[in-house]
Formats: sequence, structure tokens, C-alpha cells
Amino acid sequence: MTEMIRLTAAQMAEGMRAGEFTSTELVQAHLDRIAAVDGGDRGINAFLHVSGEEALATAAEVDKIRAAGGGGTEALHPLAGVPIAVKDLIVTVGQPTTAGSKMLEGWMSPYDATVIEKVRAAKLPILGKTNLDEFAMGSSTEHSAYGATRNPWDLDRIPGGSGGGSAAAVAAFEAPLALGTDTGGSIRQPGAVTGTVGTKPTYGSVSRYGAIAMASSLDQIGPVARTTEDAALLHELIAGHDPKDSTSLVDEVPAFAQAARRQDVTGLKIGVIRQLQGEGYQEGVLARFQESLDTLRAAGAEIVEVDCPSFEYALGAYYLIMPSEASSNLARYDGVRYGRRVLPTDAPLTIERVMGATRAAGFGEEVKRRIVLGTYALSAGYYDAYYGSAQKVRTLIQQDFDAAFEKADVLISPTSPTVAFPLGEKLDDPLAMYLNDVATIPANLAGIPGISVPGGLADDGAGGQLPVGIQFLAPAREDARVYHAGAALERLLAADAEPLWARAPELQTPAAQTAGE
Ligand code: GLN
Repeated sequence: MTEMIRLTAAQMAEGMRAGEFTSTELVQAHLDRIAAVDGGDRGINAFLHVSGEEALATAAEVDKIRAAGGGGTEALHPLAGVPIAVKDLIVTVGQPTTAGSKMLEGWMSPYDATVIEKVRAAKLPILGKTNLDEFAMGSSTEHSAYGATRNPWDLDRIPGGSGGGSAAAVAAFEAPLALGTDTGGSIRQPGAVTGTVGTKPTYGSVSRYGAIAMASSLDQIGPVARTTEDAALLHELIAGHDPKDSTSLVDEVPAFAQAARRQDVTGLKIGVIRQLQGEGYQEGVLARFQESLDTLRAAGAEIVEVDCPSFEYALGAYYLIMPSEASSNLARYDGVRYGRRVLPTDAPLTIERVMGATRAAGFGEEVKRRIVLGTYALSAGYYDAYYGSAQKVRTLIQQDFDAAFEKADVLISPTSPTVAFPLGEKLDDPLAMYLNDVATIPANLAGIPGISVPGGLADDGAGGQLPVGIQFLAPAREDARVYHAGAALERLLAADAEPLWARAPELQTPAAQTAGE
């Protein structure tokens, strides 16, 4: 039973089809795992809400259809019955959506996000909602109003952010699949530091309808998984045109999973981005990155170097554009329409004072910092100097990518400059926290797809070993290429070792601790 949770999502689907186990058994095994490792003082805290009953009901439906046999099975989606966790920034009917904020504590959405409609239609049991930095602002999940999530590789370290809950849940075998959102790296960087896989799709290729808006021109929902193939399967399920999202592309959904099964990288041109390495990157991260390049070259890929001079300004541009859009998007939390309402303690009771009291109590420090930054950058006298200049930098970054993709099919870099850092280390230093995103942000500014796949382990500076992520980027609409390259590296690195995710340390469950005493 416990081994069932260690299968890949593709293997779980296969196991159910072959009649080895039912979806009910599979979901129950995951609920047991969540009960064992997620709670308590030293628990992972990946879940803000667990929806066991709903998940078991969906599983029972799948089992019933399958038990009816024959034609019934044909009607099921390939991932039917495989459980999934959902970042709590994505709205769900029947389950609370908090965005990791006190502002939405206990709020229930009256509608489902489009990706949730698709997940429900395909009958993937939803295990619950995962932890995140408040309104997806952060790189460590420590800015959650509901406590930090722990990294399953080292419980005293961060699981990345903002989607640390989804990544940690998948790394800790609490769920085989999860949904995340990536505005500046929140799917890829948590993937990197937890030894899992995460994809930021091409902007507009997965509907944003029902993803609580952070920075609308950058936000994308994407898949979180342990293997590239699993991420590709989930990506195929959630992608596609949606009339409810005005920036949705009308493209057909390509066969991502097929791309992830392609073995050969002979002749694949991989561009190393000169600006995304060197200073600021840990030695161990650079060593694994170099090994990945050598491995791909030995397998027949052609490694070239590309120059993206404007990337130097990417972080600066992002931290103007993102707060600007967020300051506008978050204006809706006013204590009037929905969510929390806090009344001022003294008279007079004006609407402005209700809004002020609500926003003062409902938002955490990082969210307030960004609202102030964004409001300032958009203010009349400064608009051109800040927001306007940042938009120009955005164009330069897109041009750098265009030039780079003339020379290479995909680009490669470390996903994050460091391995997971200790909880608390960067909490009081916003700039140090922002620097984690230096390699992931350019893709969001350009709207292109990116994936992070495990690239081995590196020293954590304290005698331990922690996962390193390798990022592949491709031109817009060419998401299949990041699956091809990511899966190739995954397979080449696993050739002489177990896949990284299978080597995550065994967690001390409360039950195991008692037994050991
Ligand atoms: N860490 C980045 C930030 O804090 C990215 C956030 C995200 O992608 N949601 O803005």
C-alpha cells in the first residue's frame, strides 16, 4: 500500500487500468500519507485544506465506471483516478480558497477555475489545496499567513515559493501531481529545490480563468510532478483555448507526453545563456549544471553559447511590472465586496476607514510592500520613469530571446542560483529573496515556456546534499521542446542512478517516531 504512492502518475494510471489497485485504494493511500507527514510541529504543512471525502467520492465514481468494464473504461481519461493537489491560488467550488492570506480566510468561491473544470471532467480526485506565499508573492512559502511549508529533503529548509506547498506535496509523496502558478518562477524554483519537475507554459496556452490574479501579464497555471512525462500528461489535460480568458491562445494542444518520450537528442541545439551563470550561483549548482551540459553533449546534443545582455535588467523590470499589476489587481480586496471585513475600532464608520482597517489587518507585510511599490511606480509623476522604462526593458528581453532562438532550439540555465536555504534566512531581506528569481523571471517577461528538471545533488553548506534544478526554455508555443529536452536529461542522469525524486530521505512520520522510542 505505501509503495503505491511512490509510483509515477503514469504508472498509477497503468496500475488501475491493469486492475492492480483501485482509485479508492490509491486516494486512501495518499490521504494516509498526508495524515502521517503533513501535520504537527515538524510536519511538511503542504496542505491548507484536505478534501478527503470529495477525493474518495471521485475515486469511487472512477472505480464504478471501470468495474462496469469494457466500453466504460474507454470513456475514462488516461489520468482518471490519479489524485491531484491544487495550489490555493486557484478557485474551487466546495473547498475554501485563501490565496495564503487572512484576507480570504474561509472564503468559498462560487465558481471553478477552468483548469479545475477540466480536472473534474477527467475525474482526477482532488486531494486538497496547497500552501503558498500570500497572493503568490515570495520564493520560500514563508510569507503564507498559515505558516511555512517545510522541504521534505531537509525540514529546516524552504521548499521554494510561492508554490512550495504543491512542490513539497509531490516531493513527499502526498500527491503524484499538483497544479501551480508561475508569475516569476513559482512553479520552477520550488521544483528545483525539492527535486521535482515543474513547467511554466507559454503565456495564454493554459486558461488563467479562476487563478487569483497577481500580475496578469505574467501569470500562468502549470503542472507540478515528479517526472517530465507526468508533467506533460497533466499539461495536456489543462491546456487549450478558453473564451473566458481574453489572453487565451486558440492553438490546438500539442502532444507534450509524446515529446517527453522522445529519446534522441542528436543534433538538438542547446544554448547556454551566458548571463545566467557565474557570480551569485553556488559552486555546487554550477558543477551540476556543467555536468548536465557534458551529459547532453555526450548524447549528441550541440551545446552553443548565447548572449542575452538585457537579462541584467530583468529582475529590476519584473519588480516594477509585477507590483504595479498586483497593486491594481489587489484593489478588489476592500472589505466591501467579498472576503474579510474589519471595522475600525473607533468612530467615524466611513467606507474609507473600513477599507483601511480591512487592508491593514488582512494583508501581510510582503503584500503591503508590493502594493506600496506598485502604487508608487504607477503614480502620475513616475509612471514613465518606472513602469514605462520597465516595459521597454521587457521588449529588450524579448528581443534577446528572439536572437538566442536563432542560434538554438532550446536554452538552458540553472533554475535557481542556490539549493534550498534555511527557513528564516532571507525572511527579513526582501532583496536577497528576490534574487532567487533571477534565472526564472526572463521567461515570464517574454511569455515563453520553461521547465525545471532535477539535475542532481549539491552541498548545502552544512554537510548535507540537496537537489539542484536545471531549466530549459523554448520559444512561445514550442512547449513540446522543453519536454523533449527535459525528459532527455532526466533519462540520461537516471541512467547510472535512481531518479532524484526516488532518493528523497524517508520522512519521520509521528507513527515511526513513536515506534522508534
Ligand atoms: N518569487 C517571485 C515573486 O515573489 C515569483 C512569484 C510567482 O511566480 N508567483 O514575485
